[in-house]
Amino acid sequence: MAEIITGSLFMYIFKEASRNAYNSNRREDGFRENVLNCFGFNLPHTDTSDDVLRELSPGELEALKAHLVSGLIEQKFFHKFRFLNQSYLVAIDATGIATFKHKHCDHCLTKTSKSGVVTYFHYVLEAKLVTSTGLAISLASEFIENDPGRDYEKQDCEQKAFVRLAAKIKKYFPRLPVCILGDGLYPNNTVFDICQKNNWQFIITLKDGNLKTFQQEVGLLKATVKKQDVYRANKTSRTTLEYEYLNDIEYDGRYFSWVECRETVIDTKDKTTSGQRFTYITNVAQNGQKIVQTADSGRLRWKIENEGFNSQKNLGYELEHKFSRVSFIAMQNYYQLLQIAHIINQLAERSKQVIVLLAEHSKQTIVDLWRKMMAYLIFSHAEEISLAPSLPD
Ligand SMILES: [Zn+2]
Repeated sequence: MAEIITGSLFMYIFKEASRNAYNSNRREDGFRENVLNCFGFNLPHTDTSDDVLRELSPGELEALKAHLVSGLIEQKFFHKFRFLNQSYLVAIDATGIATFKHKHCDHCLTKTSKSGVVTYFHYVLEAKLVTSTGLAISLASEFIENDPGRDYEKQDCEQKAFVRLAAKIKKYFPRLPVCILGDGLYPNNTVFDICQKNNWQFIITLKDGNLKTFQQEVGLLKATVKKQDVYRANKTSRTTLEYEYLNDIEYDGRYFSWVECRETVIDTKDKTTSGQRFTYITNVAQNGQKIVQTADSGRLRWKIENEGFNSQKNLGYELEHKFSRVSFIAMQNYYQLLQIAHIINQLAERSKQVIVLLAEHSKQTIVDLWRKMMAYLIFSHAEEISLAPSLPD
């Protein structure tokens, strides 16, 4: 079992893109020998692994992932990235992983176009620990899926899945101090209740249409708003960040804080000006010391989209590739293995050895290094290889 799981995991660590690509490397005698020599396991054929991944309960790999991440948290690996030296920033977001023209399984979500064409698809809701340095580490994943017995009209959705995802985070990380980062779908009483019950902080995007009475209250109190300005300059631009906050704003019997950041960027070369506005609701009471870190942490939410989903779709992991065309169970297991591999690779790509290699010359990219590593594993002789692991900074 260890060989089958590790072999499937390495399909993603090697960024093989498909089971076919992996099998073709596996046919090389040198590759099989080198993998055995370096990592201590035989490479299984992917058909063998696939049979197992169709049967294995997806909870097993989710628990393995949580166990690995818990180990990193216990070693204080993410300690310096905590919000206000206290809680871990956990971004929540959903992404599509597969679309089909035919019904793929009983759990597919469906969408009917105006012309009556039905599309079948799968979505997953993720909770990822994010850092200002660009790490996006999967804590828990919840598939948004239809229950075969349920009413066709009432499909599962992101908000319902969040309730289950929050329960998973609590189950696997019961004592972890958490600060939830969510987009404009998340300012609602269900989310506020869950955060209150679990003793979690939150910084959630407030869109203009969200929580009307809360925003009206903010409008009435605008004259009393507290402000803080920050200026940042570099060779090409000058940035002004105007932070504003209000505490004790009532919403449905509870009191929250309102936070806004207006960013103005002046390009010093072509003299153009651009601006953005970010508004949040938070249960972290604000003051002059906390406001900047609160608004800047709120903005880290996009890391789940960029460093999380985009990397997994476009940088070799092929999140949207159909690793299993028939089995919903296998699809979930491949998804979990991809998450674990992505965690391992993010840490490997920040290790001292890799950073030294990347600094050698500007054309040396992560994609290049992975290609060279694969070539080395395929063509070199086993006894020449020695891999000394080291922890990243
Ligand atoms: Zn399906």
